[in-house]
Amino acid sequence: MTYDDNNIFAKILNGDIPCDKVYEDEHVLAFRDIAPQKKTHVLVIPKGRYTDIVDFGSNASPEEVLGFYKAVAKIAKDEGLTTNGFRSIANTGEFGGQEVPHFHMHLLGGEPVGKMVG
Ligand code: 5GP
Repeated sequence: MTYDDNNIFAKILNGDIPCDKVYEDEHVLAFRDIAPQKKTHVLVIPKGRYTDIVDFGSNASPEEVLGFYKAVAKIAKDEGLTTNGFRSIANTGEFGGQEVPHFHMHLLGGEPVGKMVG
């Protein structure tokens, strides 16, 4: 899949669209989902132009991959998600239900999240 520079997360990254930011560093931006599906619902995205987890895992630099997962761990702790647990989801492609074609990880918690696949 070719990266679409007009996707909504690209617009958040370049400042065209605001977000409720929870974390930012050189590799990562994290913000609250506009339509939260659980009490806590954070989206973590790399700043690089990657369409999905496969593109990211295949083409991102070691620094970007490390930075991404370090940020996920920090955000999970800072948001209080590690006390009772949470779910991390990366939807991929049509069958995975991915709506925004910029790689993102959902962190869902703050309450029980239910069955893995509903
Ligand atoms: P996907 O279905 O691609 O895994 O998830 C995309 C997520 O992005 C959805 O949970 C949706 O609510 C969220 N989203 C879509 N547009 C915006 C937006 O403009 N701002 C924020 N913060 N979240 C968005």
